[in-house]
Amino acid sequence: MTQIDRRSLMTSAAAIAGATVLAPLATQRASAAAPHAGTQNAGWYRYKVGTHEITVVTDGSTRFKFPDGFVANKSREEVNQGVATAAFMQVPADEYVTPYTPIVINTGSKLVVMDTGTGEANFERSKGTAGQFQNNLKTSGIDRSQVDMVIISHFHGDHINGLLAADSKPAFPNAEILVPEAEWAYFMDDAEMAKQTSERMKGVFAGLRRVFDALGRKVTRYQPDKEVAPGITSVATPGHTPGHSSFIVASGSDKVFVQADVTHTPVFVRNPGWHAMYDQDANMAEATRRKVYDMLAADKMMVQGFHYPFPSRAYIEKTATGYRETMVSWNATL
Ligand SMILES: [Zn+2]
Repeated sequence: MTQIDRRSLMTSAAAIAGATVLAPLATQRASAAAPHAGTQNAGWYRYKVGTHEITVVTDGSTRFKFPDGFVANKSREEVNQGVATAAFMQVPADEYVTPYTPIVINTGSKLVVMDTGTGEANFERSKGTAGQFQNNLKTSGIDRSQVDMVIISHFHGDHINGLLAADSKPAFPNAEILVPEAEWAYFMDDAEMAKQTSERMKGVFAGLRRVFDALGRKVTRYQPDKEVAPGITSVATPGHTPGHSSFIVASGSDKVFVQADVTHTPVFVRNPGWHAMYDQDANMAEATRRKVYDMLAADKMMVQGFHYPFPSRAYIEKTATGYRETMVSWNATL
């Protein structure tokens, strides 16, 4: 039996002191200060869905002081309480952390990027905390010029800005760009743009025009419930934006639900009735969220969440007040 008591600690201390006297060279080596590395490792993670190989590639994250009305139907105090306790996101009060997590799906015949992060130009702007997608993609061994298809879930900047390189040239030079038909119809309508009153929404419209204009508006529009690539089926999940889309990626009996922004970070999984300011039609977004999460819980289907903590995979259970996510543990092999 091992017992740690005062006497054995003192004995150990004496032994260490003795060792110092007896082996000054070893002690010198042990105490030589190694410089701090000061950098994080590359952020990518791989798993299989049937015969599909999925690479989760982080774009980094943004930490910011959230504004009043960040959750429209909750007070700042309630949000702080929820963030700190429900999701163990122990950031200082009034702050919030948003990770960005695109994925790459290799179906065997197609190399597909799904959403693109905040864009390479954001790497410098954010001092490296975001805009990391291309660096991490390269480190994962994937060549951007080999990407056949980029599928976009919706038109917010953190999902589309990565369509452009830092010089505003196409970030994926050989890829077909797929966008939701309903999203395109709404956001490319100049009459809808003219109706906007909030600075945030004006910015969304201006931002997506900048991106798609740089691409010559060359996109392929997709419908809900369509197999847009081998084993990748679109699902209409409106509310966050009018044409917001998610995907079921399936191979054999294996599948994952790629939700995009059906919920934001897991604190909104725990509190499905919270109306995040990003949700354009908050009531519709909540109805969609509950429908999707009831399905994920009933079917025990894995969910890949764009704003979940890396590598952003979880299973969902129903609770008395909402849902709870259990993040999938790291697998050291494929
Ligand atoms: Zn988003």
